[in-house]
Amino acid sequence: MPLTDLISLPSALSLPPVEQAKHWWKRQHPHRQDRLAMLAPLVAVLLFFAAIVTAFGYLRAEEFDREQEAVQRDVEYTQQRLRLLERQEQLTRLAREVSNRELDIEDFRSRAASMLNQYPEIQGLAWIDERHRVRVGTGTAIHPAAVSRAPADQSPHLENDRAYASAKLSNQPIYLQRLRDSEFAPLMQIYFPLNERNRFSGVLLAELSVDGLYRYGVPDEVTARYAISLLDANGALLAGTVIPTRKVSSYWLPWTTRNNAYSMPVSPVGSGLLVRGQAYRASLGVIGSGLFWLVGTLSVMTAWMLIANWRHTRRRLQAQQALVAETNFRRAMENSMLTGMRAMDLQGRITYVNAAFCQMTGWHESELIGSSAPFPYWPESDRELLASKLEEELSGKFTPGGFQVRVKRRDGSTFDARLYVAPLIDAMGTQTGWVTSMTDITEPNRVREQLSASHQRFTAVLEALDASISVAPLGSDELLFANKLYRQWFGTQANGHLQLVAEAGVPSSPTTDDSDDSVDSLAGLPTDAIADTETESGEIYDSALGKWLEVRTRYLSWVDGRLAQMVIATDITSRRLAEEQAATQSERAANSSRLITMGEMASSVAHELNQPLTAINNYCNGMVSRIKSKQITEEDLLGALDKTARQAQRAGQIIQRIRSFVKRSEPNRTPSDVSVMVSEAIELADIELRRRNVRLNHYVAARLPTMLVDPILIEQVLVNLLRNAAESIDTAQRPTAQRLVELRVVPTRIEGQSAIDFSVRDSGKGLAPEVMARLYEAFFSTKADGMGIGLSLCRSIVESHLGRMTAENIYNGAEVAGCRFSFWIPVADIGTLALEAPSPST
Ligand code: ADP
Repeated sequence: MPLTDLISLPSALSLPPVEQAKHWWKRQHPHRQDRLAMLAPLVAVLLFFAAIVTAFGYLRAEEFDREQEAVQRDVEYTQQRLRLLERQEQLTRLAREVSNRELDIEDFRSRAASMLNQYPEIQGLAWIDERHRVRVGTGTAIHPAAVSRAPADQSPHLENDRAYASAKLSNQPIYLQRLRDSEFAPLMQIYFPLNERNRFSGVLLAELSVDGLYRYGVPDEVTARYAISLLDANGALLAGTVIPTRKVSSYWLPWTTRNNAYSMPVSPVGSGLLVRGQAYRASLGVIGSGLFWLVGTLSVMTAWMLIANWRHTRRRLQAQQALVAETNFRRAMENSMLTGMRAMDLQGRITYVNAAFCQMTGWHESELIGSSAPFPYWPESDRELLASKLEEELSGKFTPGGFQVRVKRRDGSTFDARLYVAPLIDAMGTQTGWVTSMTDITEPNRVREQLSASHQRFTAVLEALDASISVAPLGSDELLFANKLYRQWFGTQANGHLQLVAEAGVPSSPTTDDSDDSVDSLAGLPTDAIADTETESGEIYDSALGKWLEVRTRYLSWVDGRLAQMVIATDITSRRLAEEQAATQSERAANSSRLITMGEMASSVAHELNQPLTAINNYCNGMVSRIKSKQITEEDLLGALDKTARQAQRAGQIIQRIRSFVKRSEPNRTPSDVSVMVSEAIELADIELRRRNVRLNHYVAARLPTMLVDPILIEQVLVNLLRNAAESIDTAQRPTAQRLVELRVVPTRIEGQSAIDFSVRDSGKGLAPEVMARLYEAFFSTKADGMGIGLSLCRSIVESHLGRMTAENIYNGAEVAGCRFSFWIPVADIGTLALEAPSPST
């Protein structure tokens, strides 16, 4: 670990507490910071409230204690001022004087009267002897009354007796409380024992009025401050006032209503009298609780205000966040906008430009804001124009469609822009300036120029085309487009277009056959596929123009969505003438070829004819000599004549076939039976084959379809191939066993259509490479007497029947063992009429 890390590691711990708190605060999430910032004052208020309550309570308790002390002090003072002890001492002195017999009855009476006068609370004094008899009774003279008033079995009497007995026993003054009853105010009786020469001699009874004691004993300044009361030992009220305690309020605020009270026994001991002082509830309770409630209310209000403030702040924060989001969104929108924006005040000073404007012009925002005309992006050459434009703009004359200007970039280059001006209205509805949007239209301009150039090129091509092109919507004689040649031929109306469509036999509206899925007959509208349909074409002769025209039509959906028909008419007059000439020439060639073939075959034909003619001659000679020698029967003669006739017939047939082969005739395609054509060709070639001592094997497949061909021409091809084969075998001088030609005719399929394949195979010398290369060349021949026209003619015949012809060598190992010429011709669809073909034969 590097040294620096070691140093920095405990740094956080060693920071002072304030710094630590700051660290901790910074680490908090902003959301949490917000919450804490809101809660802290609330907690502070609560703490303040708690502190106030505590302080208040403490002060109240202090005050209570102080009051308690004051009560205690005053009660003690009161107790002293009651001077009961002093009375007791004087009475004790009197009792002693009586005991010592210093007083007689009269003295006692006068002393008692003076005492009663001096001490108004003493209501009566009585001298009672040891036999319970009252010797003297003054004042209320209660004892006899007490004795007589109370029945013997009642407690006062008992109590009196008990007190008397106690005084006698204890030799101490005895106090007895007489409670307040219906007739008497409360009294206190004191029994002083009298001892005459250490012998009990009665008691001195003094009756003190407790009310009097209270009235004359308790100082006025004390009663003004406290509720002073005198109680007996059991706490029963004898005199004075008490403050009742209120339970309800003490439940809420115990310290404010608790009465401060203090009680103490009145000396001397044994008097059984208690003096109690109760502090009057000071207004402090009211003030205290008022203060308490004020503080409480203020605290609650502060807390409430804090919470309200917190909620308000939170709402404001939300609004602020929404505002920030909105501002960010607007700024993002402003920055991503491709249109330049510029705002001007009413004096024409720029007050705002957006990012796109700066990007387009290349000037920085700070360079543009505050600038006024001429602006840096004005090209020098256009300044006057732009100044007048600005003038118009500021005076409120702006074109709603915008106007085009040239703008100079910072690097000096310029571009075309379109400006749109609108008044800038603030939130109060007053106009504060003008806002201008700017779009770079260099590219659209360039595209438009390119488009118009390409349109020009396109029109030039179409105009220069040596075909008439016209487009017209379906079911309307409006002409949507026509090129120059069309206008030359037909003028500017759609008549020519419609005429071409009608004459070419091309439907002027697409088929509405329901079976055709490309048309929705219900909607009456053609589907898209119509526009894709193949071009239809026809050839017509326009007598008005005196031209042969090839008319091709095509459906297309026009630029406005309408379905239209395009007609392209090409002048094919010259081609037509050339074709006609070529046809005549090829016919002539075929014809002469046949003649040539026949010329070449002439010796064979002569040989062929020689046989029947010789036979006829022989028959005739034989018959003549036998008739002359009369050796012939009629029956024999008939037989010989029959044979002669047959030979003549055969000769005639030979001549007939050759004639029909040679006879000039137009190419004539008829449904032709393959086996018939093959057998006729074999018959024609047979003469040559036999002359060259070559055998022929032929195989014609069964059930071949009828072909739509010119049978004479096909026969010519076959004869040619068979003849060439025989010649080749002859030239190669093959032994007899190998002098064999094979002809096979089988059905085949070429490019998905059925065809018939003819092949002629020989065992001749084969085709040398140089021969192979020039095989179909007219007038190419390897033979001394050859014309070299046969194969070229064969090929053109096959191809005119849409077939193809091929030639190949046949190898026996590396040696050429012959060659095979084959050709196929497609079967035209004329109904596949199954024909019984002859079974293969040799
Ligand atoms: P010609 O028979 O008058 O020469 P063709 O056009 O029939 O004219 O034949 C052209 C040439 O093709 C012939 O000269 C010959 O050399 C060659 N040829 C044609 N058929 C065969 C064949 N079966 N075997 C070998 N060569 C052939």
